[in-house]
This record gives sequence, C-alpha cells and structure tokens, in this order.
Amino acid sequence: MDIEKLKRAGAIAKEVVAYARGMVKKGMPLLEIADKIESKIRELKANPAFPVNLSINEIAAHATPSANDETRASGLLKIDIGVHIDGYVADTAFSLDLEGDEENKRLIAAAEEALKHGVKEINIGTPLKKIGKAIESAIKSYNVQPIQNLSGHSIEQYDLHSGITIPNYDNHQETEIAQGVYAIEPFATSGLGEVKDGKPSGIYHLEKPGNVRDSFAREVLAFIEEEYATLPFCSRWIHHKFGSRGLIALKRIEEAGLLHHYSQLVEKSGKKVAQAEHTVLLTKKEKIVTTL
Ligand code: MN
Ligand code: MN
Repeated sequence: MDIEKLKRAGAIAKEVVAYARGMVKKGMPLLEIADKIESKIRELKANPAFPVNLSINEIAAHATPSANDETRASGLLKIDIGVHIDGYVADTAFSLDLEGDEENKRLIAAAEEALKHGVKEINIGTPLKKIGKAIESAIKSYNVQPIQNLSGHSIEQYDLHSGITIPNYDNHQETEIAQGVYAIEPFATSGLGEVKDGKPSGIYHLEKPGNVRDSFAREVLAFIEEEYATLPFCSRWIHHKFGSRGLIALKRIEEAGLLHHYSQLVEKSGKKVAQAEHTVLLTKKEKIVTTL
C-alpha cells in the first residue's frame, strides 16, 4: 500500500470538492460541470477514479452526463468525485441544495451529520454494526431515513469496491474493521430508504478479459484496458476520445459480455436523496480521513 499516493489523491479530491462547491450553480449544464471537475482533477496531476456522478433528487447515485446530455443542474444535486494516482483512490461526495428548499437542507444536514458519526466510529476492531448504528441514528434524528441498500465500502488499489461493505444502518454484523482504506457514505432520504435500478447510466467497468471481432472495437477495448484498467469509465469519455464510432464500438464490447454496465440507482418511493462521503485510511499507527 502506497500511503503517500493515497494521501495525495485525498488532498486533490478535497481541493476539487472546494472548487466544485464554488463553481456549480443552478441551471448549469451537467456536461459543463462534469468536464470542469474532471479537468480540474487532471490539472492537479491525478486521474478520475470514476466518472463524476451528478445525481439529481430521487436519483441517489450512478448518474453521469452522456456526450449529448442537455440536463441542467437543479434540485438536490449529489456530486460524487473519485481521484486516483496509480490506482490509489480517494472517494468523496457532497450534496447541494440548488433551490433554497427546507427538505433538501434537512436531508443534506442528516447525511453530513451521519458521515461525521461514521468517520468517528470507524477504527480497527470496530464491528460493522456499530458504524451502521451510528449512521442510522444520526440520520433518524432528522426524521428522515438511511438508504439501507447503499453502503460504504473498502477500497484497494484499482479496486473501488473491494469486498467489505460499511452499512448505513444497524445490520447486526459483528465483523470487525481491519487495517485498510474505507469509504463511508451515508445516504439520507425522505422516502422509504431503498433504491432500485433505474435507466442504464452509461458508466461501465471492464469485467473480464476477452476479445471482440471488429478491429476498431478491439482498438477501443485496448484503450479501455490501458487507460482505466478495472476502474469505472463512461460513454462520454469514449465519445471524447473516439467520436461517435467509439460509442458503436463500446456497444460491440458490451455485447461481447466484457463490460459491467451500471444502472442509475433511484429511490424506490421516488423521494429525494442526499449523500455525503469521505475516505478513511486506517493503519496500526494512524487514522487519516484522506479527503477531509
Ligand atoms: Mn463516491
Ligand atoms: Mn464510494
């Protein structure tokens, strides 16, 4: 584990969050927001660990603009940013109320308060249920609900979701936290507290090695392997590099069964969702919130 790279990725993510907080305004095209955030990451000498997620209102996560997207920022906007240096990832998110709306504000306050409690509770030896319980009670103290089927996660090099899930409610799991890197990410909703799959997001990751017959699709596949390895990427990035034939090639690669295509995640009862997220590094010597 390269602790220096993890810390640097975290510091860059923090800087990009500050930049995004100042830059994003109601009515801006999501495409412009995504391009600016991802360009800022590259300007700071790192790479996006995944396409910036810009999810509005009842869409909890896994939304990113497509190349021809015309959606504009509005409502309760979640901005989820990933930064990596040689596969060492920082994962952080925040929510913006673009309407001056009381419900939005309450949901955001609940998610942020829950994040504070989650970050405080996570230590080597803490049982998972204890972290979940702290997050759940913080959210419920705002009279809103945690989303139970979204969770934090362990992170390893080039592996964004590497096995351990950090619950956003008391799931009675006794498993204890070990050394490692963890993302804590509470989601608060005024709905029932569950998400379902929505539309295809245009976000993918390479699932298994394989081949495609079409020679241009092979070129695109080689680019994906080289550029993103196993980390998520999106159709917008492929369009940016290869133009619209890139999107056709991407479809061929998907049809060959080599990709996982993420769905948007939508709150089941159609109610609004807020998110907050930090990445925590736990070693025997230290505990560092890399993105704070
Ligand atoms: Mn995230
Ligand atoms: Mn995450």
